[in-house]
Amino acid sequence: MSQETIAVLLPDETSVELPAGSSSADLAAAIGPGLSRAAIAARVDGELHDLGRPLEQGARVEIVTRRDDDPDALFVLRHSAAHVLATAVRQLHPGAGIGFGPPIEDGFYYDFDVAEPFTPEDLERIEATMLDVVETDDGFERREVSREEAEELFEDDPLKLERLGEIPEEETISVYRDGPFLDLCRGPHVPRTGEVRHFKLLHAAGAYWRGDEKRQMLQRIYGTAFYSEEALQEHLERLEEARRRDHRKLGRELDLFSIQKDIGPGLICWHPRGARIQLELRRWIERLLETRGYEFVYTPHVSREALFERSGHLQAYEENMFPSMRGEGDKEAYRLKPMNCPAHTLIYASRQRSYRELPLRLSEIDSVYRFERSGTLHGLLRVRMLTMDDGHIFCTPDQVEEEIFTALDLVDEVMTTLGLSYRLDLATRPEKRIGSDDVWDRAEASLHEALERIGVEYGVDEGGGAFYGPKVDIKFRDAIGREWQGATIQLDFNLPERFELEYIGPDNAPHRPVMIHRAIFGTLERFTGVLIEHFAGAFPVWLSPDQVRVLPVTDGHAEGAAAIVARLREAGLRAGLDARSDTLSYRIRDGELMKVPYLLVVGDRELEAGTVAVRVRGAEQKQLTMPVDEFVTEVSEKVRAKALDAHLG
Ligand SMILES: [Zn+2]
Ligand SMILES: [Zn+2]
Repeated sequence: MSQETIAVLLPDETSVELPAGSSSADLAAAIGPGLSRAAIAARVDGELHDLGRPLEQGARVEIVTRRDDDPDALFVLRHSAAHVLATAVRQLHPGAGIGFGPPIEDGFYYDFDVAEPFTPEDLERIEATMLDVVETDDGFERREVSREEAEELFEDDPLKLERLGEIPEEETISVYRDGPFLDLCRGPHVPRTGEVRHFKLLHAAGAYWRGDEKRQMLQRIYGTAFYSEEALQEHLERLEEARRRDHRKLGRELDLFSIQKDIGPGLICWHPRGARIQLELRRWIERLLETRGYEFVYTPHVSREALFERSGHLQAYEENMFPSMRGEGDKEAYRLKPMNCPAHTLIYASRQRSYRELPLRLSEIDSVYRFERSGTLHGLLRVRMLTMDDGHIFCTPDQVEEEIFTALDLVDEVMTTLGLSYRLDLATRPEKRIGSDDVWDRAEASLHEALERIGVEYGVDEGGGAFYGPKVDIKFRDAIGREWQGATIQLDFNLPERFELEYIGPDNAPHRPVMIHRAIFGTLERFTGVLIEHFAGAFPVWLSPDQVRVLPVTDGHAEGAAAIVARLREAGLRAGLDARSDTLSYRIRDGELMKVPYLLVVGDRELEAGTVAVRVRGAEQKQLTMPVDEFVTEVSEKVRAKALDAHLG
C-alpha cells in the first residue's frame, strides 16, 4: 500500500481505501450520497469522533447518522445544543462565565455564572437567539492547542481555567469554535450548528459549581434536542404528563401528605387520606411476609454510637447519619438509627443458634433516619425519616438460593399486583472485597440459580457488587415508561464477621451464617411517591383512600344515604358521606377530582328500590344502577383480588 492511501474497516468487515488525511465525512461520501447526507459523527475504534476528524490507517469506522433512536447520535446532538445555548447566552450576556455543558439523559444543560437567575422571559429570549445561531449554520471547528495557548484563550473564564488545570499533562487539549463562541471541550459535535433544529429550553435552576455547596452558585439552564420535530413533541408531551403526575402536586391536591417548615425538610406528615394508603401497603406486605415465614421484631430508634462503630456504619456512612446526641455529663453518645441491620444482628446473637432454626427471617417495618443533604431532598422520593419494609435473613450457605428465590418471588407478586413491569440486575464481585473466592463462587452461583428459577430476564453487572457481597437490584417501569430504582437483595459476608455470628451445625461445630438484607418496597415514602405518579393519583380500589362516596340528592335523602354508608363500612369498605349543602353536580365534580373510584347517588328512586346509581371512575358509561347488595359484593371482590381496574358488571 502506498503512503498516499489508508485503509479503514467498516462494521461489515469490508475494507475501504481512502486518500491519506481523509475524514469520516470523506468515508461517508465514498460509500454513498445517502449516507453522506445523513452522517453527523462517527464511531472510530469505539469512540465518538467529529465527522471532520482525519482517520488513521486501520481504524474501525461506523458512521453515526441523524437518528432519534441512536443514543450516540442524540448524545452528539445534545452536546452540540449545549454549545448553541452557550453561544446564545454569551451574545445576550457577554459577561456570563461558563461552567460545564454536558449532554444528560433526555437532554443537556449548561451552567452559567451570572449575577441574576434566569427568568422564563430570559429563556424565551435565549431560545430565540439560539434559533439565530442555528440559522447562521456555523461549523463546529475543532482545534488542538497547547496548555499555554488554552490558558490565554480562557483567561477571562476562571471556571474553564480551573477545569483546564485538571486535564492530565499527557492529554490532548482541544477547543471548539462555532461562530463567536469558543469552548474548552473534548467533543464531538455535529458538523454545523444548523443541525440543532428541534430543541427546547425547559427550565433554569441554581446549581453549585461542581455540585459543591461551598462553591459559588451558578445558573443552570436545562434543555432537550432531537433530530425530528415529531420526537421532540413526543418527548415534551411525556414531560407534560410527568408534570401532571408529579406526586408533590397530587399529594397536595388529593390531601395525602405535607412537608411542614416547622417540622423540617425531608420529614413527611401523612394526612388521613395518605395514611390510609400507608396502612394498606403495610398490612399487605405484613401479610405477605407472614405467609413466607418472617418473624416481626421491633428495635429502638436510638442506640449507643458504639454499636454503629462495631457495625462499621459510623466509618463508612457517618455523613448520612444524624449528628450524635449526648446528655450533659454522659459518657456515651447516642445516634438515631440509619439502618436496622446492627440491631437485628444483636437479636440473632442474643443466644446460641442451631442450624435447625435457620433460616431466621427477621422483619421490621418501621422508621430509620438518614441525614440526607438538604439539596438532594425531593418530595417523598428522598426523605430524612424513612419507613422501610426492612428484613434480614440469617441462613446457611446452602440455603441462600432458596431464600433469594423466595425474596424474588415476593418482588414478583408485589410488582405484578401493582401492574409494574420490572427487570433484575445481578451485581457480582468487585475487585476490592472481603471473603474468599470460594465463598463468592458459591454465593454468585446461588444467585444465578435463583434468578434462572424465577424466569425474569436479568442483566449482570460484572464487578458492581458491594465489597461485602453480591446483590440483585430491582428496576421497575411505571405507567409512562419511566424506570425507577426499586428494592435490593443484598448478600452480606461482613456483618456476620464483625458481630462474630455463629450457628452450631450438624457436625456440632460452630459455623458462620450468611446474612441477606432485603426490602421489597424499599421505603414506603418513596414507593408511595412512585405509586402516586404511576397511577396518576387514581389508585386501584383496594389502595384508594376513599373507595366509595355516597351523595344524597337532597337533604331529605341524607338519612337513607347514611344508612348505605354504614352498610358499606360494615362490609369493610372505606366509605364516606358527602351531604354538604353544595349542589349535586358540584359534589360529583369534587368526588371525581379526588379520584374516588365509586360515587353513589341516592335519591327517591334509589331509596325506594334499594338500589344505588353508581358513577365509576374513568368509566365510559356515565352511570349504572344496581342493588346495594350487588354493589357491595362486586366492590368487595375487587378489593379482595386487588384488581387494578374499578370496572363493574
Ligand atoms: Zn463540546
Ligand atoms: Zn440491612
